[in-house]
Order: sequence, then C-alpha cells, then structure tokens
Amino acid sequence: KNAHPTIRELVAHARANFGERPYVVLEDERATFEATIRAALGVAAFLQERGVRKGDRVAIAMRNLPEYPAVLLGTVLIGAISVALNAWWTGPELEYGLTDSGSKVLFVDGERLERIAAHVDNCPALETICVTRDAPGLGGERVVHFESVVGRIKDWHTLPDRPLPDVALDPEDPATILYTSGTTGHPKGAVGSHRNAMTCTAGQAFSATRNFLRRGEAVPAPDPNAPQRVTLLGIPFFHTTGTHAVLLPSLNVGARIVLMRRWDTEQAMQLIERERVTSAGGVPTLAWQLVEHPSRTNYDLSSLESMAYGGAPAASDLVRRIKAVFPQAAPSVGWGMTETTSTFTSQSAEEYINRPESSGPAWPVCDMKVIDDDWNTLPHGVVGELVVAGPNVIAEYWNKPEATAATIRDGWLKTGDLARMDEEGFVYIVDRKKDMLIRGGENIYCVEVEDALCKHPAVVDAAVVGIPHRTLGEEPGAVVTLGPDAHVSEQELKAFASQHIAAFKVPVRIVFSPTMLPRNANGKILKRDLKAMFV
Ligand code: ATP
Ligand code: MG
Repeated sequence: KNAHPTIRELVAHARANFGERPYVVLEDERATFEATIRAALGVAAFLQERGVRKGDRVAIAMRNLPEYPAVLLGTVLIGAISVALNAWWTGPELEYGLTDSGSKVLFVDGERLERIAAHVDNCPALETICVTRDAPGLGGERVVHFESVVGRIKDWHTLPDRPLPDVALDPEDPATILYTSGTTGHPKGAVGSHRNAMTCTAGQAFSATRNFLRRGEAVPAPDPNAPQRVTLLGIPFFHTTGTHAVLLPSLNVGARIVLMRRWDTEQAMQLIERERVTSAGGVPTLAWQLVEHPSRTNYDLSSLESMAYGGAPAASDLVRRIKAVFPQAAPSVGWGMTETTSTFTSQSAEEYINRPESSGPAWPVCDMKVIDDDWNTLPHGVVGELVVAGPNVIAEYWNKPEATAATIRDGWLKTGDLARMDEEGFVYIVDRKKDMLIRGGENIYCVEVEDALCKHPAVVDAAVVGIPHRTLGEEPGAVVTLGPDAHVSEQELKAFASQHIAAFKVPVRIVFSPTMLPRNANGKILKRDLKAMFV
C-alpha cells in the first residue's frame, strides 16, 4: 500500500477539522463542509446502486452550482473518474465529451439538459442521467432528479452520517478527466490522478510561505483566530483551476468558495463586501475588470488579501494597477495548463512586482526546461519550447494514445508554449508556439505586442492577430478595447507602441472594439473570431 494520501484522506481531513464551516455559497444557498460531504456520500451510494465501479466515468455538465463539489467528491470517493464537460459546449460538443469518455452517468443541469437531449441516444455507454435544477422534458427510466438522491441543499446536513466508502484508492488511480480548452485544436481529455490532485493541493499551501523562505525569513505561525479564507470563484469548476486550485485545496485549508451564476463585476464587488472575500481573480480579464470598474470605490473591498490569476497572458501593467488600486491585496500570477492539473509556476507580492513579466519559478517538486526542436536544453534567456515534469503532470490523455506519445516523453510534457528562463529559474512565457507570426522572416510574438498596447492608460484589453500580406506573409493587426471614457486615436496608439517595441512589431492596423474581446470559458481570446475583423 502506497503511503501517499489520496482525495479520500483530504475529505476525511476536511470533515474532521472544518465540518461546520461554510464550504460553498451561491446567493442565499450555503452548504457546510459536513453537509457537502454527506451529499457526496449520498451521491456515492447512488452511483454504486447504479452499478458504477472503480475506473468507470461519471460526467458533470453543470454551471457552478453547490451540487458540483458534491458530485465530484462522491464520484472520486468510490474510485470512479469525474469527467468535467465544458458548460459552454453545444449539444454536439457535449456528445463528443460523453462518448469520448464513455461516461456511464451524467449529472446535468436544466440548461445543458436541453442542449444534450437530442444527443443522449448517441451515447451508448450512458445509463443514468441525474438532473439538477429546473429540469424540463426528458423522462424515462434512466432519468433521475438530483433532489430525489440527496434532497435540497438546505437539508443536506440532515442526511445520514455515513462513513467514507470502503473502496481502496491508490495515488496513481485516475480521479479526474478535464478537457483542454481547445484553443489550438480539438479538446483533449487530460487524465488527472489522485497524486496529481494532491500535489496541487499541497503546492497551493506552500506557495503562501515561499516568499519568506526565499528571503531566508521565518514563516509567520498561522493565526488560530484568523477569519476563514474566502475565494470568489469567477471561473468555472470545469476548468482545471476551478477543480484543482480551488475546489480541492479548499478542503485542505477550510476555505469557503463563493459562486456566481455568471460573472458580473458589480455583483462580484457586492459579494466581496458581503462575504468578506479574501481572494479574487481567476484569470487576468476578471482582475482587470475589478481594478478598472468605475464604481469600485462604492464598496468595501478591504477584505481582499490577494488577487490571483493565471491561465492566459497577463499584461505586465496589471500588477502595477492592482498595487495602486488594492494596496492591501497581494497580486499573484501563475502559469499552468490542464495537463499540469492547474498551477505549475507562480509568484506573488514583491517577487511579482519586481518581475512583472514573469510567471514565476516552478513549484518546488516540479521541473521545467526550455528545449529546441531536437530536445536539446537551451541556455538561460534563449526562447524555445517549455517542457515540464513533476507529480502534478498527467501521465496520459484519455483515449488518445497518439497525442500522449507526441506530447509526453520520459515523463517530460511538451507544453506548446514558447518561453525563456532566467538564471534564477523564473519563467517568461513568450507566446504559444502557434500564436506567433512571421513578418517577412521576423518573429513577432503576439503577447509582447499586446503587452505594449496595454501599457497605454486608455487600453484595457488588446489582442494581436496576423493579417495576411502578399509578400511579407503576415503583418500584425490589433483589436483593442478602451476603458470607460478613455480616448486615444489609432495613430497615437501606434506611436505609443513604437516607444516600447521595434517598428516591425507595431500593428499596421488597430481596430477599436466597443465591447470586451471575445473569450472562451477559460479567459482565452478567441483569435479565430478576431481575424475576421481584418478581411
Ligand atoms: P488546447 O490545449 O486544447 O489548445 P489550451 O492550451 O488553451 O487548449 P488550457 O490547458 O486551458 O488549454 O490552457 C493552457 C495554456 O494556457 C498554456 O499552455 C498557455 O498557453 C496558457 N497560459 C496559462 N497560464 C499562462 C500565463 N500565466 N501566461 C501566459 N499563458 C498562459
Ligand atoms: Mg494546451
């Protein structure tokens, strides 16, 4: 028997230490750790009755509801694999996720049920559909209502006080399948083991002490009277950050998760005030929206201790603006991917302020290096492909042996990101391998140009794409969103950019977008859609 703990031990820990604290909050619904775990045990018993065994897949297609952690934990506690389907997916995409994973059971909310209804008969493995919230239509033997399984959220604490299921779990057992965002191609199912998840959970806790250790200072002892940590979750649970950096680590430190039906900056500020939120962010766009919001000063946001984000390039100016607007909140940035079960590198506070362009060093149990196309390690400062290894890196993609073989070699995973590292091991993400353009033989990394544009005080968002050019191949074009009441002309912005980047990198055309740029559920700009603005 392996000594490494699994998610089972994590749940037992939360139950023993934080039982009566609130765990998930959505509007006026709240569930404590104990209540959520009882609901999870109800889900586990239900799945076992329905014939779900170790290694079987159980899919979730839901927005961020309090039921989500209960379903995920119930699934994992019986050794089954929780499959997170992207809640933004359309019917055919949901069908792809269900058939690709071969899920036996689907937990789905009313909205997604409508999308999937016409497709469920194309999913041969699917035996049970458990519906949460306002379920229209779709009946029959395999459809069960979630409330008939575990009752209403407000009554979860009265569910039977059962022991955790008697299912042996090994750290290498798969626990989750999360799909990559599909930014560069078809989404791939990243199989996360218990060990991957537990590494992330431990790493989150460690990152709080690392700055002290790096400076050779004593780490302050935890204050037993400190108020509960509270995370405002503006990003989805189905994204690796939602699952591996929030849902699970909250069980480790007894933190509360405040959910939102959909992101709305004004409502986010109301919630920060009402719930005394200590950490907000998720992806850079959400952090920008908070620092830029004109009615920010109408709310008491003094509970914020950190603004943490990652998952997409963050303009280097964001850290300075956070510092100016929320001086009490430590800015924190991380780089990671679905395949690294969320955060892999991170830095916060002074470290970040001193290196606003870096995503930080790797977590201590992780390794990274920058290689050329032949896997030769490149020296410091030279841009190449970032490859990563460690106990939070997945061993395989689900059902895609060719993709696994092409991506993972001797435990090292090719990230598809271009990066350089400095002498101290801090990484600088330069661009995606697929998100650069070559203008007449000169490399232009979109992120660098976007960063230069965002340095202008009027600019809140920018995306650079390649515009086809007959002789040069491609030229950079930019789509830019300005802040409320801000003005700058195309000429002025070009002149401004040329103070920061070489002339050949300055966008030849800049289009102003009246709305925020289109992003997918994980905060990534949909550049395919933007290219159309230049034709
Ligand atoms: P797919 O792999 O399906 O094309 P995806 O790579 O967008 O989609 P995710 O796993 O959600 O799917 O995202 C990981 C990617 O997000 C990283 O490879 C990187 O390109 C980007 N990313 C994450 N964190 C950062 C960061 N701090 N700075 C820049 N880019 C980041
Ligand atoms: Mg990827």
